[in-house]
Amino acid sequence: MSLREVIEALPKVELHVHLEGSIQPATLLRLAERNKCELPAKDVAGLREWFQFKDFPHFVDVYVAASKCIKTPSDLELIAEEFAREQLRQNILYTEANYTAKTIHRYAGIPWDEQLDALNRGFAKVSDTKVQLIIDIVREFPQGEGEEIAQWCIEGRDRGVAAIGLSGFEGQTPVSRHAHAYKVAKEAGLNCSAHSGETGGAPAIREALDVALADRIGHGIRCLEDPKLVQELRDRQIHLEVNPTSNVCIGVVPSLAEHPFPRLLDEGLSVSINSDDPPLFSTTLTEEWIRCAEEFELSTDILYSLCLGAADRAFLPDAEKADLKRRILAGWQL
Ligand SMILES: [Zn+2]
Repeated sequence: MSLREVIEALPKVELHVHLEGSIQPATLLRLAERNKCELPAKDVAGLREWFQFKDFPHFVDVYVAASKCIKTPSDLELIAEEFAREQLRQNILYTEANYTAKTIHRYAGIPWDEQLDALNRGFAKVSDTKVQLIIDIVREFPQGEGEEIAQWCIEGRDRGVAAIGLSGFEGQTPVSRHAHAYKVAKEAGLNCSAHSGETGGAPAIREALDVALADRIGHGIRCLEDPKLVQELRDRQIHLEVNPTSNVCIGVVPSLAEHPFPRLLDEGLSVSINSDDPPLFSTTLTEEWIRCAEEFELSTDILYSLCLGAADRAFLPDAEKADLKRRILAGWQL
């Protein structure tokens, strides 16, 4: 079997991917037609071309335009079902997906409760793969919205919300604006996964740890700029959700060959491989595994330990985590 065939068949775990950033061109076209939204192309080939990463402002345009095509709970149910089907197709047993509920609330006016019910209906249509949500506060959101999102996360905790998240442009709006929201979430027992150390440097990771009280860091690759921070991340076993192709597209690193993934491993940090916004970066989780295995000469033993490590750092109760690890082991022994 080729490396590709082996990796396609192996069970996987994904901790960093965006639900709205995973909408495939064909689905977006369906949403645009039924909701009468204007898009720059009227067929799948044209949309695929438009999806191609060009630069960061274009990426944001596509992301926002896709989010604006979501108008109803049944649209959410559709994107959730298609997302889960794609994860299952790649043999991803468990996923934590970032989702910006406030944006959908703002543009489509769908109340949080109805959003969560619709997404869970979509996920439940696909068995043999489990998807939980990370609901993010965007740095630029006003303080009151951050606090509202923290409450949504607390209400959704037993209904598929795995954690509260943090996203948005690093280094422009201080996270301190949302300090109270993260404190409230933490006191209610919620975990936090915070985007940082991608476009922002080590100080952004420091801020995510100290202010957003992050348990895991989305990206985090620029921790290497600060040896003391690396030591702390290692000591506290703060997991880094690494997204190699996304980092290359956004220009955080010039090429995959120059990506610091091997250095993060050498530093003894807890890391996983993830896809971020697959159709927008022309990738999938399977593709990320293949690219990393080839570029960094990762053996299947290393891939296995990365997969188990991701399962270990999933925001799941212990019994479910143990079951997930058993299923991963069973899949790797075939
Ligand atoms: Zn992300």
